Amino acid sequence: MKGTIILKGNIIDTPTKDQFRCVENGYLVAVDNEIKGVFQELPAEYAKEEVTDYGNLLIIPGMYDMHVHAPQFVYRGLGLDMQLMQWLETYAFPTESRFSDEEYARTYYRAFVQTLKKNGTARAVVFGTIHVPAAEILMDIMEEEKVGGFAGKINMDTLCPDFLREDSQQSVADTREWLERNVSKRTLVKPAVTPRFIPTCTSQVLEGLGKLVKEYQVPVHSHISEDIGEMDIVRGRYPEYAHDGAVYDHFGLLTDKTVMAHFVYPAEEELELIRDRGVTIAHCPQSNGNVAAGIPPIRKMLDMGIKVGLGSDIAGGYSPCLFRAMSEAVYLSKLKWLESGKEEDFLSVPEAFYLGTKGGGQFFGKVGSFEEGYELDALVLDDTSLSVSLDHFSLTERLERLIHVGDDRNITARYVAGEKA
Ligand SMILES: [Zn+2]
Repeated sequence: MKGTIILKGNIIDTPTKDQFRCVENGYLVAVDNEIKGVFQELPAEYAKEEVTDYGNLLIIPGMYDMHVHAPQFVYRGLGLDMQLMQWLETYAFPTESRFSDEEYARTYYRAFVQTLKKNGTARAVVFGTIHVPAAEILMDIMEEEKVGGFAGKINMDTLCPDFLREDSQQSVADTREWLERNVSKRTLVKPAVTPRFIPTCTSQVLEGLGKLVKEYQVPVHSHISEDIGEMDIVRGRYPEYAHDGAVYDHFGLLTDKTVMAHFVYPAEEELELIRDRGVTIAHCPQSNGNVAAGIPPIRKMLDMGIKVGLGSDIAGGYSPCLFRAMSEAVYLSKLKWLESGKEEDFLSVPEAFYLGTKGGGQFFGKVGSFEEGYELDALVLDDTSLSVSLDHFSLTERLERLIHVGDDRNITARYVAGEKA
């Protein structure tokens, strides 16, 4: 059931990253999940249609979480005073192993997906565990709860505890079977090939996955050049390749349907490779700080024309709320600005908003903006709790405050793919 949806309110989006587009008391019209436009006056042809009037509330596009680990939702907010390896051994690996239990997976994945939904995430790119049944449970729950996007059974056959280590051949065979069963099973949720990262995958697995990506034309989701220690392992294993990007590219894993998290330490030619392949970078500012990875050069990536979206990276990040990611993207970019001797400009608020909406949205198709021909993903925001009076603030100031101090309690309604969800 789609039909015509007309939303009335204060409509804000970022068709371009440099500035907000605002229509005060405007009309957002979509017919069968296709946006017809944002209008100051309702066009006569829709005069007889029902209008949902949100009054003085704000209407923005959906938000997109470009990198999040579903099993790590279980222990989000824990161990953030540990170093990465200790954190993985204490929390990540033991928790992930519990997802061999389907009942456990059902319980925690339901809570995870409902949390994304409550926080306004329209679509997400999600890591599962190595377990195929749990990955399918996750995909079913996302579809039911109307959180769209891509989810992955992950691959891991080296440099991990025995209880999570896959047999190399079996890992690829399981992935093939899983793709075969799931590639066109659901409307909103599709599979993405998800090698954990280069250190935990042998070349046999990466090569096998590259072939599957080509055969099934599915997206790829992983981590790239996140951390000096990780990069040293990759250099040691593949001395003939100068950077993570070259290794992924060798195995056919960099396409315009690839999303790579972090990219904190990109080499100059690696930046060009990522841009030329059309890869999307998932910038996860909260996680970059928490795991003490470093600060990625987002300004430089944007100037070069690299596609960038935002990710919560639960549980490297503790907050599933994309407002936090927008706010912290600005914050982290200021530290980068200082670090660069004030050379690399920090991000503006419209830019951070763009990254969390249209910047990530392009990965899923035409979503993340209210331009004509886009799908209808939208959020309705109520900021009355943030001020004694809203009279003093412009629409963009109201949105700016929501980004920095708002949270899920300010979300009144959520639309995904042309339906109220
Ligand atoms: Zn991650």
